[in-house]
Amino acid sequence: MEISHILNELGEDRSLYFNAVSPPIMQTSNFVFDTFEDIRKAFEDEDSAYLYSRGKNPTIEILRKKLAALDEAEDALVFNSGASAIFCSVLANVKTGDHIISVDKPYSWAWRMFDNMLPRFGVETTYIDGTKIENFENALRPETKVIYLESPNSNTFELQDLEAISKLAKSRGIVTIVDNSYSSPIHQKPLALGIDLSLQSATKYLGGHSDTVAGVLTGRKDMLQKIFNEQLLNNGSGISPFNAWLILRGLRTLPVRLAHITKTTEKVIAFLKTHPKIDRVIFPFDNDFPQLDLAKKQMSGACGLFTIVLKTDSYNRIEKFTYGLNHFLVAVSWGGHESLILPQAAAIGPENFDPIIERHRMARVYVGLEDADYLIADLRQALEIL
Ligand SMILES: *Cc1c(COP(=O)(O)O)cnc(C)c1O
Repeated sequence: MEISHILNELGEDRSLYFNAVSPPIMQTSNFVFDTFEDIRKAFEDEDSAYLYSRGKNPTIEILRKKLAALDEAEDALVFNSGASAIFCSVLANVKTGDHIISVDKPYSWAWRMFDNMLPRFGVETTYIDGTKIENFENALRPETKVIYLESPNSNTFELQDLEAISKLAKSRGIVTIVDNSYSSPIHQKPLALGIDLSLQSATKYLGGHSDTVAGVLTGRKDMLQKIFNEQLLNNGSGISPFNAWLILRGLRTLPVRLAHITKTTEKVIAFLKTHPKIDRVIFPFDNDFPQLDLAKKQMSGACGLFTIVLKTDSYNRIEKFTYGLNHFLVAVSWGGHESLILPQAAAIGPENFDPIIERHRMARVYVGLEDADYLIADLRQALEIL
C-alpha cells in the first residue's frame, strides 16, 4: 500500500462526518444500541462494535487502520503510552514459571518491569548482549517464552539481527517483541523480518510535536485480539480520542519530517565528527558504526537521535556547555519539532562523575526540525566552553 494513501485516505470516510476534511474527535464514553441483538453481539466481542471508548472508538479506529498498514500488519492497538504497549505485550505472553530473554539495557520502563514486577509473579528475565546471535542461543531455556528486543538500543544504539533472531525464536515457539520507536515504520519494518509484535512510543516520531504521550503495538490479529480483550480492556490502557486525534495529525507529516531530519542530522554529525572537543559520535548510519552493514540491511535510514562523547574531564564544563546551548533544550524524550540534549552526567551527579568512564561523558542529542546551520552555529559556540 502506498504511504500517501495510508496517511491521507486509509480508514477515513468523510460522508460519516459532514464531509469534514479532518476526522472528528469522537469525544464520547459510550454508544447507543438499537436492538438487544446488537447489545449481545457487542458484549461477545468488544472490538466488533462501538460499545464503550475504553475499547473501541471511531477516532481511534482510523488511527489503528493507518498504523497497521504502516507496519504491514494485520492489526494495530493504540495505548495511552509506549510504556503501556511494552507492559501489555509482555504480560500477555508470560505466566508463572516462564523465562524472558531481553536485550541488555532496554528502555528504562521495560527493565523496571522485568526486574521489579515480573519476579513477583515468578517470571525471570536474562539480559544479554544482543549483537551476537550465539548469546540468544546460549540463554535459551525450555521455559523461555519471550525474546524482548530494542533495535537500535537506547543511548548507544546497538542493533540486533531481527531476521536471524526471529528464525531462532520461531523454531522454538518463542514470541518475539521489538521496540521499534527509534526507526518508526518509515525506516524499519520488524514484522516483515519475522518479528511477532512490534511496538513504538508514538510520543516520539509518530506524534512528532511533543504534545502527547501514546504507544502502538502491531502484529497478527489473533495475538492482538487477545491483548485487546485482556490487557488493554482490563488495565484500561487504551488511548483517549483526543490523543488519538493528535497522533493522526502528526502522522500526516511523518515522512516529510523524517526526510528533513535525516538531512539535517547528517550535516550536524559531519560537523561534530571533526570537532576537537568531540571524542566520537555514535549513530547507526555513521561510517564508523561497528554494525553499519546490519543497519543498512534491516533499516532504510536513521534519523535525528545520536550520542556524542565529549572530550573533557570536568563535570562543571559539561553542565556549562549544555546550558550554553541556545537552541537545544535540556529535556527527556525526543521525536518532536525541537532539538534536545541530555548528558549522562546529569543523572550521575558530580560525586560519582569519573571522566575515565566514557559513558559519563556521553550526551544524547536529538535533532528536531530546525535548520542544520542554525544548530551547527549553536553547537560551535557552546563547544568553546568545554
Ligand atoms: C520513550 C520511549 C519509550 C516509552 O514511551 P512512552 O510513550 O514515553 O511511554 C519506549 N521505548 C523507547 C525506545 C522510547 O524512547
